Amino acid sequence: MSVHTDYANLANRLIAAYAHQCLAASRAQRSLRARSHHDKSFMQSLLRLSSVLLQYKSPQATDAVLDAIDLASVYAGVERRESSAGSDSSLQYDDFLVQELLHYFKHSFFRWVTKPQCPQCQASGDNIVGAGARPFSASHNPDQVSVVEMYHCTTCSLPVEFARINNPLSLLRTREGRCGEWVNCFLLILHAVIPQPNRLRYVWNHEDHVWCEYYSYGLQRWVHLDPCEACFDEPHLYANNWGKKMSFVIGFNDYYAIDLSDKYIPASAQIDKLSVVSSLKTVTSIVDHINLEKVREFFTSDETMRTLTAASASNNTIQANEELLLHLYNSIILPYNRERKLVVGSAKPSKTSTAAIGRQTGTSEWTRARGEDGS
Ligand SMILES: [Zn+2]
Repeated sequence: MSVHTDYANLANRLIAAYAHQCLAASRAQRSLRARSHHDKSFMQSLLRLSSVLLQYKSPQATDAVLDAIDLASVYAGVERRESSAGSDSSLQYDDFLVQELLHYFKHSFFRWVTKPQCPQCQASGDNIVGAGARPFSASHNPDQVSVVEMYHCTTCSLPVEFARINNPLSLLRTREGRCGEWVNCFLLILHAVIPQPNRLRYVWNHEDHVWCEYYSYGLQRWVHLDPCEACFDEPHLYANNWGKKMSFVIGFNDYYAIDLSDKYIPASAQIDKLSVVSSLKTVTSIVDHINLEKVREFFTSDETMRTLTAASASNNTIQANEELLLHLYNSIILPYNRERKLVVGSAKPSKTSTAAIGRQTGTSEWTRARGEDGS
């Protein structure tokens, strides 16, 4: 055996040992305890989102998406983008596809709803007055409605309701909502065309906005996408363009959660984090908890179990175990550690300075009320 293979074996053994430690930690971890009411609600939001991407993997989703979108128009747009890109562009086919889907989704597919239109007299805007919200009460809830907003039409006196739908498949049919519905439906579509594991990410901002990211092979990194604004790779859109102040931004992909605050929040837009949680350790420990849970899930997945069972049948358990630990390291632990290094302190000047100022979706009163009008 050459010296080189010796070192390679040693490196693999160390990596496997490290992955094994992570796995042991994941098996030993206890449930999280919140220190304050604020910490508890922060924790619940993150835990609820930790498996948010699973809903896009239903077997009928891909067919439903391909039936719903105008593929001919999307692919014609992709070809146009590809042929007009410079030869020095590092963008690849799937990057053009994502750009075209953003454009198609905003301009031809989904509709923004600040307030619903009156179904009886078609009045809208100022003629529709808010009257609170009620929880959805029926036991049969195929659209996964979380809450029903209530309004009143001042023109014809009809009560008007707007149900907030969470089932992404239902959104392919209704095609309307606010940022939650937009991101939910857009991720379903993205998953149908980019089905590889761990290439999509749901991004949550504590100050009431969500967007997404995907991993670009051409750019070799995670890229910001905002379907509501058809924005591609403009992480400082919110801080510089909308003038939005933020405390935390957390991302959730298949294999880990990650604190992306430094990527999206430059110092000038940073809300004091300690006004949101009791200590920064709270956030780190929630993210760590989710990630150890992901490690455990990875190692107890059906696929892993099948590999180990097959290996033990052929007396190969030790080698199979080491290979799985290496796989765990290369799929989850290494990409997470690498990306965390990249994100920390990554706030750079935004490239959005030439774009239109202020949020492009929602009425001006609505964006001003949210502090997102660029002032
Ligand atoms: Zn009306």
